[in-house]
Amino acid sequence: MSTPGPRPVRAARGNTLTARNWQTEAALRMFHNNLDAEVAERPDDLVVYGGTGKAARNWASFDAITRELTDLSEDETLLVQSGKPVGVVRTHEWAPRVLIANSNLVGDWATWPEFRRLEAAGLTMYGQMTAGSWIYIGTQGILQGTYETFAAVAAKRFGGTLRGTLTLTAGLGGMGGAQPLAVTMNDGVALCVEVDPVRARRRVETRYLDELADDLDDAIARVERAKREGEALSVGVIGNAAEVVPELLRRGVEIDIVTDQTSAHDPLAYLPRGVDLDDWADYAAKKPDEFTDRSRDSMAEHVEAMVGFLDAGAEVFDYGNSIRGEAKLGGYDRAFDFPGFVPAYIRPLFCEGKGPFRWAALSGDPADIAATDRAILDLFPENESLARWIRMARDRVAFQGLPARICWLGYGERHLAGLRFNEMVANGEISAPVVIGRDHLDCGSVASPYRETESMADGSDAIADWPLLNALVNTASGASWVSIHHGGGVGIGRSIHAGQVTVADGTALAGQKIERVLTNDPGMGVFRHVDAGYERADEVAAERGVRIPMARP
Ligand code: NAD
Repeated sequence: MSTPGPRPVRAARGNTLTARNWQTEAALRMFHNNLDAEVAERPDDLVVYGGTGKAARNWASFDAITRELTDLSEDETLLVQSGKPVGVVRTHEWAPRVLIANSNLVGDWATWPEFRRLEAAGLTMYGQMTAGSWIYIGTQGILQGTYETFAAVAAKRFGGTLRGTLTLTAGLGGMGGAQPLAVTMNDGVALCVEVDPVRARRRVETRYLDELADDLDDAIARVERAKREGEALSVGVIGNAAEVVPELLRRGVEIDIVTDQTSAHDPLAYLPRGVDLDDWADYAAKKPDEFTDRSRDSMAEHVEAMVGFLDAGAEVFDYGNSIRGEAKLGGYDRAFDFPGFVPAYIRPLFCEGKGPFRWAALSGDPADIAATDRAILDLFPENESLARWIRMARDRVAFQGLPARICWLGYGERHLAGLRFNEMVANGEISAPVVIGRDHLDCGSVASPYRETESMADGSDAIADWPLLNALVNTASGASWVSIHHGGGVGIGRSIHAGQVTVADGTALAGQKIERVLTNDPGMGVFRHVDAGYERADEVAAERGVRIPMARP
């Protein structure tokens, strides 16, 4: 029998089941949607986003997962170990239909070389955050978080708007591609360095990036003009960030904000200077150690230039890709002179159980998302920044694959949205069930000392009990699929995180599950931040009735 290989994948649409029930149909559609060519960065390799974040270990596993989900009953649960279906167990209707563990390694073995050895032996895969847990929704998935982050930068340093400011960043991949639109949504100018022209063009086609410059001189001229005239504009330039960022510093271009979203978390996914784009894959595969040394050297030069901009007065932050850690390994001592974005801007939101709540319409019909947008506006009329986001997203975000939406909601809010969506499915306002999930980057679901849990008030950055409790809580509360991953965002050895997805199929049972999951899941964020000593979390717990056994008086 021949080995199964790549082929185009697209999720089923409409309200006819191809599996036995909507819980498994939803998992199947979202699994396939992750690998839709509109959604995934390299679908033929099963790579969804974030360097090598995959949805299934290989094509044989893809076929087996598809087959099992199609056949699975309402009292059965499929077990997935790093992208391979390894067992089906009899459970009950409140249990998740799929339990997923991706890329996990025991502490002393949690290194990239050991991971790659096991991956080459066919024993594991890199699941990133939403790639291996089947709830990636394309670049929109990070857009609101990036928009909020730049809004926080604007509030902190630039009087509440990025108008008349220039942001420099690199990486226009699946997630990094959200940066230009997030900056222009805040009325600023963005200059984005990307080494691969195909990736850059894809962002123009999907309306995330306004234009591509011919070369660096042209890019500088375009962004300086827009900055002068207070026009919101994003410009891409093809080049290696390890060369272009230091060059911009040398030329004295006045840059106000600097960050980066290349795939620095994986040294083989960051192109070292002096290596041709066409030689990248072959070189990284044949000489991973030499390639790693070279990419860390390049990241050291890249970060040194970022610190140069910091010294010149710019607002500089790490946007969650571990570039500071890699630059430090590359021998640059001042890599941690600038902060990560979570302690700098996001932690107060985490204290309220706020995080990236997202949903997708299994019908494939954009009208269903338009209906949910209206429902969010109705449910939270007092939240002006949420309303502004929903209106902008409605006007400016192009869907990739199944229509989807993201917005950040907190403890006490998420379950209201979920219950409303479930009612809308039940009464026909939405034409087919909706899946409700989130990124693993959330308030109570991650241990990641270079990112979500950097500089915790009590020093508990590396405590990884929280994501494990989070997965257990979601399993016990009725989520439709639950996942525990290692290494997402920042790379192997640096994070442990959990995710959940819950299906609103319009039934009363789904309503009961939604109420519990969407209360308890963000509740983990409140517990986490109360425990770490954040006063805002204490207030939220007291105001909203979160039970904390050893609460501070
Ligand atoms: P991706 O692999 O899809 O894209 C990375 C891009 O960087 C590619 O287009 C690649 O060509 C480009 N690149 C690599 N080396 C370069 C260089 N030297 N110069 C210029 N461009 C270069 O990854 P992604 O999904 O966009 O994620 C990017 C990073 O952000 C990852 O490290 C990921 O873990 C992290 N991430 C952060 C968040 C967050 O919330 N802050 C969320 C998701 C992912």
